[in-house]
Amino acid sequence: MTYEPVIGLEVHVQLKTKSKLFCACSTEFGAEGNAHTCPVCLGWPGSLPVVNEQALKLGIKAGLALNCKVAERLKFDRKNYFYPDLPKAYQISQYDMPVNGRGEVLIETKMPDGKFVEKKIGITRAHLEEDAGKLLHEGIVDGSLVDYNRGGVPLLEIVSEPDIRSAQEAYDYLTALKAILQYVEVSDCDMEKGSLRCDANVSVRPAGQEKFGTKVEIKNLNSFKMVQKAIQYEIERQIAAIEDGEAIVQETRLWNDTKSATFSMRSKEEAHDYRYFPDPDLVAFTLSRELVDGIKKTLPELPLAKARRFIKEFGLSEYDAYTLTEDKKLADYFEGCVKEGVSAKLASNWTLTELLAVLNEKKLSIEASPVPSQKLAGLIRLIEQGTINGKIAKDVLGEMFTSGKTADVIVKEKGLVQVSDTGLIEKAVEKAIAANPNAVAEFKAGKQKALGAIVGAVMKETGGKANPKIVNEILQKKLQN
Ligand code: ADP
Ligand code: MG
Ligand code: ZN
Repeated sequence: MTYEPVIGLEVHVQLKTKSKLFCACSTEFGAEGNAHTCPVCLGWPGSLPVVNEQALKLGIKAGLALNCKVAERLKFDRKNYFYPDLPKAYQISQYDMPVNGRGEVLIETKMPDGKFVEKKIGITRAHLEEDAGKLLHEGIVDGSLVDYNRGGVPLLEIVSEPDIRSAQEAYDYLTALKAILQYVEVSDCDMEKGSLRCDANVSVRPAGQEKFGTKVEIKNLNSFKMVQKAIQYEIERQIAAIEDGEAIVQETRLWNDTKSATFSMRSKEEAHDYRYFPDPDLVAFTLSRELVDGIKKTLPELPLAKARRFIKEFGLSEYDAYTLTEDKKLADYFEGCVKEGVSAKLASNWTLTELLAVLNEKKLSIEASPVPSQKLAGLIRLIEQGTINGKIAKDVLGEMFTSGKTADVIVKEKGLVQVSDTGLIEKAVEKAIAANPNAVAEFKAGKQKALGAIVGAVMKETGGKANPKIVNEILQKKLQN
């Protein structure tokens, strides 16, 4: 029997505000334990919450970017449960009147054959809520510590419809979601700092069956790769269980990355009844349409629209366009190159491969690149004009990183101008042929690859500066005779 996986994701992102959702405490990351706390976020009796306007605006902006229907009227509710990281014993969240209702995200998902297919993932809702504190157990012998700095930090919980059908699609959805939220600057979406967290709901059903299977919720997923691995594991575990005649129980499972497996944490019977009720300290209120329309006007071109424009305007491949637009700064860098008048294809290749390779090696972000797009375009121009070949250009790029000089200057100073003088190249080719009789024999016996050794010898002879096209032409001609 074949099975179809059904997946829905719940994503929490921290909204980029200076202060917390209901008090004036700072949201600064990495401060001393409990430095950013006050009677409101510690839940002292008599303290009163006030909604952070900026958090609300960012929440609306995110909702608009996710094509959500923004509420006309909204309210906050208390979600009751007891845990040491939650001093009020309730979390202020939104229950039946969330700031953002139904929405959708279009993703391009890569099929096993390498083609991209457009897919729509529904958004059920995206609501505001406060974060809880953080319990610290590690390295503490007698008991645990609690840090309430994170308590009360604004989060947007984005709940997807169960529209995702594979672990790969879940990965692609998360990538698209993160890109959108970063483009609209509502969150830095840094999983390492906990500003993006994801829980995955997974079930399987016999192919063709309409009714969903019983779902399992997976927590403790610290990277998109982990989400993908955990979902894949869970799909296989559920299928194997069903095939063995076992019933899937609705439960929460934790991903253990060391063991590459999920383990049961709690079953549905142990699940909380949160007893949601409207927070009497925060009355329901109406959003003005002017506010929402004003925010809508500030939305930038979003990643998918940008990718599609790159494909149409610059003839980029889908792969290149989607990769470049995953990060707005990278997309801007590429466009900066193109604006200098160089070929878009070369600009895309050099940005995505050579530039990113050096940046990764030096652990630098694209914004911190010592080679700005204008300078990379200068290097590309030299390749286009035939002044230097691609191999030399890579060395020049390395030099640009360390010295900060332009490609022009480096090429002049080091005498790296490509040799296109056929007489000179011919001599080098003759010398290489004479020095590599074995390779010549192999080539004549039909082994195309043998040519590599001879070309290598020519390049060595010319200090890597020979025009590869001319070398090949001369070499082919000489060997035909
Ligand atoms: P709960 O009440 O348990 O929180 P919800 O209905 O709120 O469940 O859904 C939570 C998440 O689980 C959503 O992202 C939703 O898309 C997803 N989901 C719901 N039912 C299923 C299912 N049968 N299989 C997989 N995911 C599901
Ligand atoms: Mg839920
Ligand atoms: Zn506070």
